Amino acid sequence: MTELSQQFLASARQILGDKNMICDQEAATPYLHEWRDRWHGFTPLIVLPDSTRQVTEIVQLCAQHQVAVTPQGGNTGLVGGQIPQGEILLSTKNLQQIPRINKSDMTLTVSAGVSLSDAAGAAFEHDLLFPMELASGGSATIGGAISTNAGGMMVLRYGTMRELVLGLEVVLADGQVWTGMNSLYKNNTGYDLKQMFIGAEGTLGIVTKAVLRLFPMPKAKTLAWCSVNSVADATRALGYLQNHCADPVAKFELVSQLALSLVLQNIPGAKKPLAHDAPWSVMVEFESWHGSEIAQNALASALDKGLIIDAVIARSQKQHDELLALRENISAAQKSEGAAIKHDISLPLANIADFLKQARNKILQQIPDTRFCVFGHLGDGNLHYNLLSPIGMKSNEFTRLRSEITTLVHDLVQEMGGSFSAEHGIGIARVNDLKRYKTGVEITMMRQIKQAIDPDNLMNPRLWFD
Ligand SMILES: Cc1cc2nc3c(=O)[nH]c(=O)nc-3n(C[C@H](O)[C@H](O)[C@H](O)COP(=O)(O)OP(=O)(O)OC[C@H]3O[C@@H](n4cnc5c(N)ncnc54)[C@H](O)[C@@H]3O)c2cc1C
Repeated sequence: MTELSQQFLASARQILGDKNMICDQEAATPYLHEWRDRWHGFTPLIVLPDSTRQVTEIVQLCAQHQVAVTPQGGNTGLVGGQIPQGEILLSTKNLQQIPRINKSDMTLTVSAGVSLSDAAGAAFEHDLLFPMELASGGSATIGGAISTNAGGMMVLRYGTMRELVLGLEVVLADGQVWTGMNSLYKNNTGYDLKQMFIGAEGTLGIVTKAVLRLFPMPKAKTLAWCSVNSVADATRALGYLQNHCADPVAKFELVSQLALSLVLQNIPGAKKPLAHDAPWSVMVEFESWHGSEIAQNALASALDKGLIIDAVIARSQKQHDELLALRENISAAQKSEGAAIKHDISLPLANIADFLKQARNKILQQIPDTRFCVFGHLGDGNLHYNLLSPIGMKSNEFTRLRSEITTLVHDLVQEMGGSFSAEHGIGIARVNDLKRYKTGVEITMMRQIKQAIDPDNLMNPRLWFD
């Protein structure tokens, strides 16, 4: 653990005041483990600056004393990047200026510590849409979502965070502030610097503010839960609905039978959406600008063509929320099912059905009776490929095979033109994969960028290249 000098602590206290510092280990505990309890950390100090000025001064102090920093937003990241291992932890919780809407530019100016749902709520008050929807959105922050290039359920229609950011303010490793807070859609003036910080997982600096794109609020949404016979049918249904429905498809989420049954079994109040079980389900949401009839007709014709086998359309807000919760609660529903080996992968749509078949066969040869809890944002090719331990197998026996199984899965993903991390990032969980699957040229360029912007390796130093 970094030893902090009395001089460092006194200067930090002068910058932040007592209320924006946590030295007590018990008070620090919630910041030092994450949602799944997979990553645990330790830190000599947590700082909670409440302005860009305080972030700047504290980062300058760290640079002066060569003290490394781990930034943390809502602590919902799934690859361990926000959990310090001896560095000081800089929480953005107090970076909470009131979000500012510009209706004519359709932009939202927001501080890094604001949650995704508060940002969306601010836009909603002006009848505008901020389309970043994650199940963790009540806690995940704007700064965290930018730093992980978060995706979620609406990427199919609106893109990842990369497509939603117009401007950024970042405190660099030496304490300089880069102010790129413009709201321009067009700005061809050399390298697009903001893109370097999006998805950088805090390795290049601390995001303190952003200007984000907003969109017209759809007049209504039509949400349906459909059962399908196969993943190949689900991808065909997506193509059909996109080509034959005037209402845009905003969400297209795949849910395996096991994933649905775990939600029904483990989440209080969850209701079975359709009378008959099917191997796969799809939750599809349309933006309905002229009533829900257009989407209903498109679904009826997909049903006629045999692409889907049954469907229910939400008729009330309550039913809409209940169907959405079936999808959103899958992660929570797995928690009580024992050990899991999880993968967040993406593949070209055309290869997904084949990947699932091949991966299943290979895994069952290694661990017979593995349970496959597969779900994800099929619309953009992103699968959460989660393997649960066979009933009766000891957790440690299963997790002992984690690295072997993960290599098997990721090798196949690579072979089929996919990515070993679709939306969660690298963090500490995927460092070996980075080395295995990125080319030498890619790794060299990434290292050179890190070296140029953070030469003393003070920003999230354990990530990526450890
Ligand atoms: C139930 C659940 C569902 C989820 N669903 C999705 C999903 O659908 N799509 C998806 O993409 N992700 C999903 N996630 C993952 C997670 O919510 C996102 O990665 C989110 O963007 C992280 O935001 P955060 O504020 O919690 O960041 P944290 O977890 O605090 O940090 C994540 C990373 O960003 C860095 N960081 C945080 N804030 C800053 C900052 N201001 N400046 C620089 N670096 C910073 C941290 O050091 C760390 O490396 C889910 C997580 C959970 C628990």
